[in-house]
Amino acid sequence: FAAKRLGRPLDSYCASMREEVRQRHQMQQDLAEAIKQEQLTMAYQPIWDNRSGRVAKLEALVRWYHPQWGQVSPADFIPLAEEAGLIQSLGALVLWQSCRDLARLQSSGFPELQMSINRSTLEFQTIDPQASEWLRVIEHFELNPSDIIIEITESLLMESSDQHRIRIEALRQAGCKLAIDDFGTGYSALTYLRTFPVDLVKIDRSFVRHIPFNEQDSLLLDGIINIVHNLGMQVVIEGVETREQLNFLCHKGCAFTQGYLLSRPLAFDDLVNYLELNRNGMSLPIVS
Ligand code: C2E
Ligand code: MG
Ligand code: MG
Ligand code: MG
Repeated sequence: FAAKRLGRPLDSYCASMREEVRQRHQMQQDLAEAIKQEQLTMAYQPIWDNRSGRVAKLEALVRWYHPQWGQVSPADFIPLAEEAGLIQSLGALVLWQSCRDLARLQSSGFPELQMSINRSTLEFQTIDPQASEWLRVIEHFELNPSDIIIEITESLLMESSDQHRIRIEALRQAGCKLAIDDFGTGYSALTYLRTFPVDLVKIDRSFVRHIPFNEQDSLLLDGIINIVHNLGMQVVIEGVETREQLNFLCHKGCAFTQGYLLSRPLAFDDLVNYLELNRNGMSLPIVS
């Protein structure tokens, strides 16, 4: 079918399919090796509290530098890790590094920082109903569980089995915070907020893209922020890239923002510099 569409002879199509499969397999092997050698690193993106004008949280984002292909996007290699059964060990590495770095930051003058860690659906399919492995790492670095935020996607909540819920609940009962990532990109955005307790809702960046110039989008975003706040949850807006967007959000009373305008994800040393530089508040005046 696809071969016909491309107007290529079937032979060469099959050959290129084989080549693609081979490359994918190679990538999986390389990823397995990189995880084993602990070659994956973390970048941290600051999340600002607009009210205090300070960095309140960090999002931990995994990075993979492939010797041949260069920087590979997690949007590409996370699914690869899931396919290859590597997501558990990848997740363990991410958790370890993020907790280690948060502990370092908290004890070097930034005691109030929180760390937000992404977790994919498959990472909840473990035989660890009490999530004790997670809690052990948090304890190992003497962190307060309430400084750890777990980011899950809408689809996990939508599809979540009882087992998923039990594990999520276990983490929450231990004091960890729960965030919905990329909110609004799934199917039925609002209903499950009633039935599933979350602490934080991260609104997907597609909602902010045309703000404030598109009136429909502005009204929609304003409405979502109000609903989430009224439910007693915090709101983070992702993907803030312009001053106009930031001003709009500040006027709407949205407390937390994340995006390239304020900072890209940073390697640990750059992050420390950034935090030092902004210790006394945002160097960027918010409301014009
Ligand atoms: P996400 O969790 O929604 O993370 C936010 C993504 O948006 C990051 O991409 C970040 O670099 C990007 N971003 C932040 N601000 C802006 C902005 O102003 N404009 C634009 N255009 N983009 C912005 P990144 O690091 O490439 O990660 C992509 C996705 O990969 C993440 O989306 C997350 O779903 C997944 N991911 C990343 N790290 C991990 C991890 O450690 N574990 C798991 N399970 N998934 C991860
Ligand atoms: Mg995230
Ligand atoms: Mg997100
Ligand atoms: Mg995303």
